[in-house]
Amino acid sequence: MKFREKLIRFGLGRYGTDELYYALFALCLILFLVAALTRSYLFSVLQLMPLFLMVFRSFSRNIHARRRENAVFLRIWNPIKSWFVLQKDRIRDRKTARYRVCPKCRAMIKLPVKKGKHTVPCPKCGKRFETRIF
Ligand SMILES: [Zn+2]
Repeated sequence: MKFREKLIRFGLGRYGTDELYYALFALCLILFLVAALTRSYLFSVLQLMPLFLMVFRSFSRNIHARRRENAVFLRIWNPIKSWFVLQKDRIRDRKTARYRVCPKCRAMIKLPVKKGKHTVPCPKCGKRFETRIF
């Protein structure tokens, strides 16, 4: 059997990569940098833990367990990621738009910059609420 076929057969049924894999990779890089900058033995050892988890998870055949782990990770990670995306959008749109939260459904609403007090309908739940744009 050729090496290529052996490699393909080895990869069959394995979990592979997901968002948690990339997060562990980022954590590994951060720990590597900290270990390099501080020349700390502790961080040199700590950086191996996410690396071990990455390899273990990507070669695992227990796909359901790995998907559950990734779902738990995404429940924590997605709100954090959304917050950063919102901050990026706020900076990008700082001259043309203001962002307000609907008091009823907590949806984020993008409003054009028109100074003064306005009554705004929420596009998600339909509730009208007052807001002030400076
Ligand atoms: Zn609403």
